[in-house]
Amino acid sequence: MKNLKDISVVIPIYNEESNINELYERLTKTINEISSHYEVIFVNDGSDDGAEQKILQISKLDPKVFYINFNRNFGHQIAVSAGLEKSHAKCTVIMDGDLQDPPELISKLYERYKEGFDVVYAKRNERKGESYLKKLSAKLFYRVLERLTSFSIPLDSGDFRLIDKKVVIALNEMSEQNKFLRGQIAWLGFSQSAVGFDRDPRKSGTSGYSYSKMIRLALDAITSFSDKPLLFVSRMGFFISFISFLVILFSLFSHFFLKKTVTGWTSLIISSSFIGGIQLISIGIIGEYIARINTNSKNRVLYVVKNTNIETKTT
Ligand code: UDP
Ligand code: MG
Repeated sequence: MKNLKDISVVIPIYNEESNINELYERLTKTINEISSHYEVIFVNDGSDDGAEQKILQISKLDPKVFYINFNRNFGHQIAVSAGLEKSHAKCTVIMDGDLQDPPELISKLYERYKEGFDVVYAKRNERKGESYLKKLSAKLFYRVLERLTSFSIPLDSGDFRLIDKKVVIALNEMSEQNKFLRGQIAWLGFSQSAVGFDRDPRKSGTSGYSYSKMIRLALDAITSFSDKPLLFVSRMGFFISFISFLVILFSLFSHFFLKKTVTGWTSLIISSSFIGGIQLISIGIIGEYIARINTNSKNRVLYVVKNTNIETKTT
């Protein structure tokens, strides 16, 4: 490994024009206190504001700043993965570009890293300026995931973290299409430690994570790391079959012995729509897994790069 930097910072950017300058200033100030041998990689995930120009400008002035420009919006996790593929340092920081992850915390992450941990993640004590629904859904999601997986994914932490080179290499070798990086990192099982912080509100602009993107991430997380929903479906199938069997026995009994045919239209409607609903949910759950098998079997490239300065720069 030639000319490995001390630290690399990967930042996915989707419409963060108004945050980039402040982010760059605060980041370089902090990181210069750690080492002057660093790189910053902005991955522009198809922004349609002026973020691309901002990144280009900065990278022209500062030889330590690199960029990867995507052809279109491929998604946050893919953007981070692209940055990790190109990062070339002893350790790498992953952070958001909207200043919700304070750059100043990097020195604390780095200190902890120097104590000998391979993964140092930033754990959110408090989430300021986010809607009640977002906080509640996030909290619920992390708890559900915790119950579904057989290894533990740190609660209440996003992707803001510092990881050692060997974690980056291992991640780059995981070829799945549907990425859930914090789960993948936990699954790898390297030594880890947490540093707490209060998460600031987004500095400006709006969240690029719509509810549909959040649901997709949650489904990716669950289907990538747990088979329990499938187990649940088959158990539910057995349970409902058992109940149906009892109902059948009862119907036959009342027909032949009580000579009273069950005339209940209501019970018929209720049971058939109930079973119909359960079947649809079950097919849906199975479908989520099959869709991911399908995506992975196509084995497409994860993203398409419009342009980058990574090969051309020599620092
Ligand atoms: N982001 C991205 N692609 C997307 C959505 C978001 O690269 O499709 C970036 C975004 O610019 C930010 C980070 O991912 O740096 C986190 O996104 P955001 O702040 O919108 O999510 P939230 O904090 O609201 O969950
Ligand atoms: Mg944010």
